[in-house]
Amino acid sequence: MSHSDDPLLMIPGPVEVSPAVRSSYSVSPPGHLSSAVSAAFSRSLVAMRRVWKAGDDAQPFILAGSGTAAMDMAVANLVDAGQRVVVVETGYFSRRIAEMARRRGASVDVVAAPAGRRPAVEEVTAALDRGPTRALLVTHVDTSTGVRVDPEPLLAAAREREVLSIVDGVCATAGEVFHMADWGADVYLTAAQKALSLPPGLGLMVVSARALAARETLATKPPMFLDWLEWLPIHRAYEEGRAAYFATPATNLLLALVAGLREIEADGVEARWQAHQAAAHGLRAAWAELGLELLPTAAEAAWTLSTLLLPDGVAAGDLLPRIAAHGAVVAGGLHPDVRERTFRVGHMGYSVTRHDFLERTVEAVALGLADVGRGATAEPALRALRRAVKDAAATA
Ligand SMILES: *Cc1c(COP(=O)(O)O)cnc(C)c1O
Repeated sequence: MSHSDDPLLMIPGPVEVSPAVRSSYSVSPPGHLSSAVSAAFSRSLVAMRRVWKAGDDAQPFILAGSGTAAMDMAVANLVDAGQRVVVVETGYFSRRIAEMARRRGASVDVVAAPAGRRPAVEEVTAALDRGPTRALLVTHVDTSTGVRVDPEPLLAAAREREVLSIVDGVCATAGEVFHMADWGADVYLTAAQKALSLPPGLGLMVVSARALAARETLATKPPMFLDWLEWLPIHRAYEEGRAAYFATPATNLLLALVAGLREIEADGVEARWQAHQAAAHGLRAAWAELGLELLPTAAEAAWTLSTLLLPDGVAAGDLLPRIAAHGAVVAGGLHPDVRERTFRVGHMGYSVTRHDFLERTVEAVALGLADVGRGATAEPALRALRRAVKDAAATA
């Protein structure tokens, strides 16, 4: 729980963690062979399959590292030199995964949309049909633009063509609807500090049996630390309740992971998705009341964050510190094309279950806008927030 005088952390990760999660890992570091870590590891692997909606034959991996490490792991295990991949570009992080594929020596066909939009499915299928393709790389929610793709038709197009798929769910997993098994995704990856609401330091992914088999066919092995085949016996041992060693796991974070996944499953994954949707709709109503506009269209905007246009003549450097002084830390722009014109509010994980956090955030943004002469008042925005959250919950 935040002290009432500490500003809330409402950036697109890291985010606030629940009191139960915070106390779970606030202990002396346990050994990686301890029974506490074995139990946390094993239960987390089983829970990940459920939260990801993955099949029993899919393999979860838990990696010490950030989301970027998870992206590198996925690319290094599936993409070989000389192979062709198609990247659906919706922002800064899709550009990053495209660069990772280039560094593996792949030829990269980028299907891009202007910042704040997403390419049409037909443009992606046309790219898949331009030549033999190893993998389709998709960013579920690009955190720079706040754009969400619709993964289902993209993954169906990949499956029909026997193309492997990697979906970067770093700003989405447990916050946006995703059915790994039903939609036929090969890798769905995330990081601890986004919608899972854990402290940063874990890269997480679930890998299909098909993708694991594809790793065996690589001509160039991945770097050792990133190699699924190095980690596979370790993860299998832990899942069977036996501790094993390849490289030291982040033991405190495993305690946090099992606590966080337990909390998500106690609410129900579907209920968590719905809470993100309700929060997003509530906040959009509040932003409109404050005269703020989203960069993406309503249909393409994510539930996990708002990428907002700065009011004309207002610089992020003036506005953001004032919002923070009123109780909520929000983030500046990230995508190079719109960096100077946007700011971002994260609303994911534990925070969306706390309506008081959402209200404090709206109030801080309203007061910050007033400080820079944009005469916003909080009350109508708070009323719009409450009304829209209630409506979204009622229609769920
Ligand atoms: C945050 C984020 C990343 C990078 O994660 P790090 O933990 O910062 O390495 C990658 N992709 C998306 C979509 C993200 O939101």
